[in-house]
Amino acid sequence: MGGVMPEAPGLFTMLGRGARRRCPRCAAGDLFTSWFRMRERCPGCRLRFEGPPQEGFFLGAFTVNLCVTFGVLLVAVFAYIGMSALNEAPPLLGFVVVSGAGCVVVPIVSYPFARCVWVAFELAMHNMDDSLRGGRGSPGHARGAGR
Ligand SMILES: [Zn+2]
Repeated sequence: MGGVMPEAPGLFTMLGRGARRRCPRCAAGDLFTSWFRMRERCPGCRLRFEGPPQEGFFLGAFTVNLCVTFGVLLVAVFAYIGMSALNEAPPLLGFVVVSGAGCVVVPIVSYPFARCVWVAFELAMHNMDDSLRGGRGSPGHARGAGR
């Protein structure tokens, strides 16, 4: 990192954009045609989101999703332990049922956010070069949102 390319936002900027379901590169919104269906390319900078199917792009989003779900579960478990210490814990069975439901609901709700966050990671790893993913940028000289 460190300003190799003038148009490249920092990793945290890109992650922040991804967490708001925006394009990590140009911050354009409206990247999804439905909750689970992402556009092939960014409407703002034409960045290609869908890599070749074998690239494990879904797996990346899945990994981010798993981390989010695990994080939420961890917070819930610690909250339960805290409440137990105060003798105010709800019945364990209820907690398990609610946590189990959360493990199903959280990944669904966070899926589009996870996708965008993963795109941010991908961009950071590939140094803003989307030519590897069939984009029109040339290696080492991604012009980003330029016309
Ligand atoms: Zn974009």
